[in-house]
Amino acid sequence: MSFDPVRGRASKGWVSHTPSIVDRLRPCADGLVPFSVEFSPPRDAAAEARLWRAVREFERMQPAFVSMTYGAGGSTRDRTVRVTGQLAAETTLLPVAHLTAVSHRVSELRAMVGAYADCGIRNILVLRGDPPGDPMGEWRKHPDGVEYADELVRLVLDLGDFHVGVASFPEGHPRSPDLEHDTEYLVGKLRAGAEYSITQMFFDVEHYLRLRDRVTAFDAEQGAKPIIPEIMPITSLRSVRKMLQLSGSALPRELDERLARAAGDGPEEDRAAVREVGIEVATTMCERLIREGAPGLHFITLNFARATSEVLANLGYSVHARA
Ligand SMILES: Cc1cc2nc3c(=O)[nH]c(=O)nc-3n(C[C@H](O)[C@H](O)[C@H](O)COP(=O)(O)OP(=O)(O)OC[C@H]3O[C@@H](n4cnc5c(N)ncnc54)[C@H](O)[C@@H]3O)c2cc1C
Repeated sequence: MSFDPVRGRASKGWVSHTPSIVDRLRPCADGLVPFSVEFSPPRDAAAEARLWRAVREFERMQPAFVSMTYGAGGSTRDRTVRVTGQLAAETTLLPVAHLTAVSHRVSELRAMVGAYADCGIRNILVLRGDPPGDPMGEWRKHPDGVEYADELVRLVLDLGDFHVGVASFPEGHPRSPDLEHDTEYLVGKLRAGAEYSITQMFFDVEHYLRLRDRVTAFDAEQGAKPIIPEIMPITSLRSVRKMLQLSGSALPRELDERLARAAGDGPEEDRAAVREVGIEVATTMCERLIREGAPGLHFITLNFARATSEVLANLGYSVHARA
């Protein structure tokens, strides 16, 4: 395989034999569905060591694929490409590289895709990203960049033999005027060539089911593409509330109250009690998602294996992680 950084595309005739994510979404024989996990780029050497402990734990559990999020800063980006490349070269895992358009001109986006191609990565989750600095602020595209994720989907696919996924939002993207427009824009990304979507985290399975219904009603062909639910096993109320601020998702009131009761009134939340509720809720959600025909389960891990492996063990997957 070779990628021409000047022309910004894979050399003619390059065909990668890396499996696509959709190839990996075959139902398991025991009534379970494939599972996958999301990692985040480590910020320093200690975080990188922790990430690799989690990677090796998950490697034993044979997830269908693993994804690596894409951060804002330049040095994080270099580390992201390096670590994602190592996942491809030094493990048995199938990596999906996230890529955002934030602060990038088109030539830089091409170079990033090239860097991933050179590491043997063919699966890319294409995202627009949020404004740098203040993620809730006004989005301004780079003057030489792209405005929406659908343009980036086309750009990546034009560069060579890649398999692309996109983000979907069961409760609607926070910047979408309404769910109808939100559905239209998601379908636009799928029509641009994305093969599947991974959802934002959610805590009411109904939101996922209604998203699936909306996409199918809007465009049956695109509605047939897998919508992979993203599951967050809650281990800290404070951090999940922070993560939710940006996401467009919310904790249902009853669950929020239950977690608050578990967290207690002390200066530090009772992490063990919160975690117990979080694991139970994630397990119940996954059981329902499997019954409702979800094509897979994608877990946010925060680079720890234990919470996800506990949920998987509750569901009947034969896994056991140490940390
Ligand atoms: C599974 C998942 C993984 C993620 N990983 C990362 C990551 O690694 N790094 C990171 O920085 N962020 C990540 N995000 C967050 C994501 O970048 C933000 O939610 C971002 O605000 C939206 O990205 P998008 O790709 O959905 O953008 P888009 O699909 O471009 O949508 C952005 C906004 O524009 C609207 N829109 C889209 N198309 C059009 C159009 N044609 N006309 C008018 N309006 C339109 C949409 O409704 C939405 O409000 C992830 C999100 C999810 C769900």
